[in-house]
Amino acid sequence: MEIMNAAEAFILLGPPGSGKSTQAEMCRVKLGIEHIDMGAALRKSAQEPTPFGMKVNEMMNRRQQLVPDEIVHAVLENALRDMPRGQSVMIDGAPRRENQIDEVLSLIERYGKRFRKVIFIELAETDSVERISRRFSCLDCGMKLIFGENFFDAKERCPACGGKVSQRTDDTPEGVSRRWKIFHDDTMPVLQYFEAKGQLSRIPGNNAPENIFREIERIITDRLV
Ligand SMILES: [Zn+2]
Repeated sequence: MEIMNAAEAFILLGPPGSGKSTQAEMCRVKLGIEHIDMGAALRKSAQEPTPFGMKVNEMMNRRQQLVPDEIVHAVLENALRDMPRGQSVMIDGAPRRENQIDEVLSLIERYGKRFRKVIFIELAETDSVERISRRFSCLDCGMKLIFGENFFDAKERCPACGGKVSQRTDDTPEGVSRRWKIFHDDTMPVLQYFEAKGQLSRIPGNNAPENIFREIERIITDRLV
């Protein structure tokens, strides 16, 4: 059966702090599914010295507004075009709004992949805020530090290299709440759309990364759906 060998596409969604990047990376290493990170792809496009790059840059950085759907679609198309047709992918961060659903699904098909499922890592807002506001990193060596786990005073230096420790500017309780509201307003309708079609799997995000990955792996390798 030809369909069994076709490249597949999964969509990974989750609120801020749900650990999507960690999971996408585990899927790449352990299951050979390439990660299309829409946030990173947009930031990369914004640095290109082309008219398109300058437009993305203006939208993302200068006007601080939501990136228009056309730009999201163009960036996703570039990423899919760069992948071998037989390569399965995990699209992280699109569709984020209802208006993007049709175009994302048709791009997946146009680049020779079969859409399988939306995987949604669920996390309550309080857990999300709590988790992100404890996240710090070293400006020199990049070491990730979690307040209360391997780091106990915001004025402390990095335990690995003695460098200065800092928090991402929007990783504050206020910043997380703002990102949560956008997630709630824009992305909830996307989840409802796929849930109504039986194409959504919910995974509890308040769990160790290895346990979350085990759930995702079970969904991905289940050929009987
Ligand atoms: Zn350091």
